[in-house]
Amino acid sequence: MMKKMILSTLLTSTLLLSACGDEESQGTIEVDDTEDIEEESATEVENTETIDNSDDASEETDENADEKINDDLKETPEHLYEVTDNLAYLSVLDGKEANKNVALLTYDDAPDKHALEIANILIEKDAPAIFFVNGMYLEDDEGKETLKEIYDMGFTIGNHTQTHANLQAISEEKQKEEITRTSELVEEITGTPPRFFRAPFGQNTDYSKQLVEEEGMSLMNWTYGYDWETEYQNAEALTDIMLNTNLLVPGSNLLMHDRTWTTEATPAIIDGLREKDYELLDPQLIQSVAKESEEQTNE
Ligand SMILES: [Zn+2]
Repeated sequence: MMKKMILSTLLTSTLLLSACGDEESQGTIEVDDTEDIEEESATEVENTETIDNSDDASEETDENADEKINDDLKETPEHLYEVTDNLAYLSVLDGKEANKNVALLTYDDAPDKHALEIANILIEKDAPAIFFVNGMYLEDDEGKETLKEIYDMGFTIGNHTQTHANLQAISEEKQKEEITRTSELVEEITGTPPRFFRAPFGQNTDYSKQLVEEEGMSLMNWTYGYDWETEYQNAEALTDIMLNTNLLVPGSNLLMHDRTWTTEATPAIIDGLREKDYELLDPQLIQSVAKESEEQTNE
């Protein structure tokens, strides 16, 4: 087993080092099952809900391991965008060439009642998005299964704290619990720790900013959102304002929630953005803190 662990670790390191230059899978939101297999053969995770033939996988030859690495390479996109310093927009990374006319869809306070339905609509529209989750929805089996399903559909999962607490109103110890517990749950369920963190109400503290970075996540707020305001709690009004607000500019980060009217408005919002020539940004193309350190290793 030890030999396999070393081999697998070695291969994984190679993968991380060489992943940055790959351009083949830009814009795709493919599901990355191979990562689960690799992790299991590397660490013999007890978790049985990922891949049921993991025993077979760990018996496979080096040749097969190479194939898996190649699969992974194809599915690791190059990072072309970053969150701006004010946390409100996305911009093209210095020295990279990419479409500036992008908009990012994000859905917060998930997975509550509508997240899975929203995810299905997004898949139908071939639209990527980030679901920012609260750990309190992931403590029971139903929540766990819903999140796994959304993740397996190819969506990016962000950390939105455990109980949607206002971080500025609680102790550092509590802030730590709010942030780390949710990351642990997401990683336990999906096999991948979140790369982005959005504070409830967009309100961070110096402590939370530092902790989030230490946890390998990038901070992200938003450009605009309306679905919590009474006058926009119907699909028609929400669609209209999301598309016609003068706050919509290239690089906008659109804040929405796990709500009935937002679910209903989602298809028209997607169509409208595309009619306005916005490309819906694949969050996998956005650089995060964790990726930065990997890229530094590469230099
Ligand atoms: Zn929220």
